[in-house]
Amino acid sequence: MKKVILISNAVAFSLFLWFVLFMGAEDSTVGAFGFLIFIIPFLFIMTLLNVVLYVIFRVTRSKDKTRACPACARVVEVGITTCGGCGFDFMKAAGN
Ligand SMILES: [Zn+2]
Repeated sequence: MKKVILISNAVAFSLFLWFVLFMGAEDSTVGAFGFLIFIIPFLFIMTLLNVVLYVIFRVTRSKDKTRACPACARVVEVGITTCGGCGFDFMKAAGN
């Protein structure tokens, strides 16, 4: 998943460089203005995409998280509230 974020950033950076070079070739004020009109929503979309990818990355990673039971040291999934080995109540232990 981290690879996807890296690739999206690499694509964004190369596109950004391409547009800088492309717009830099046009030495008129219209070209500079057109560049700004393009780059602001572009950067906004890229930021949004990165946030979405980061959230997906965090959500998918937390799915396979495990913790050790404090009573019997058995490895239990985070979403499970009672230990499968000894019946230890994680919710009670957390104070909920
Ligand atoms: Zn246990």
